[in-house]
Amino acid sequence: MYQAVLADAKFHEQLLAFDRDLAASARAARCWRCGGALHSGSYARKPRGIPAGLGQEHAERFSFSCAVDGCRKRTTPTSLRFLGRHVYLATVVTLISVLMLGTTPSRLARLSVVPGLDRRTLTRWRVWWRSTFTDSPFAPVARAAMVPPIDIAALPISLLDRFAGDLREQLLSLLRFLAPLTGGVSCEERAFGTTTMRAF
Ligand SMILES: [Zn+2]
Repeated sequence: MYQAVLADAKFHEQLLAFDRDLAASARAARCWRCGGALHSGSYARKPRGIPAGLGQEHAERFSFSCAVDGCRKRTTPTSLRFLGRHVYLATVVTLISVLMLGTTPSRLARLSVVPGLDRRTLTRWRVWWRSTFTDSPFAPVARAAMVPPIDIAALPISLLDRFAGDLREQLLSLLRFLAPLTGGVSCEERAFGTTTMRAF
């Protein structure tokens, strides 16, 4: 079931369409610092976990830079595809983390769904889910939204379970919920007044 979603090209096309909408809204909102017009400054990333056969546009991170001399601030819109600086797609980070709850990392590593996933990455993800909901700037926001409180040890499935619909719909809602974490530095500064982006 999870593997089917990970390999579902149509689902990834849908995520890309949502990201295009998010980018258009961010551009319409203009520069977050000076209100200037935004120019496209999208860049290519090398995300892991993109299903075979999808085009290069799936590796593109939408981004803008301010057109005003002396500002030039970058605005990176929120995304349902990229989760902060994780090198794997947000879908992969979420669904593989869910799978990990029911299996051992070594058994999971033998699954061919996502090549190159090592034990250390999986462990980092587990730590990331927990810290995001316990001691990140996003944690108070997440806690306020989740009543009754979610089971931290069972993240991210405990979060996924809070959303209605089939797995794809649940995943979309979860990715939307995490959207404040997915923008660039400027976006996070705006949301939390601080910068805590780290690479994974
Ligand atoms: Zn500006």
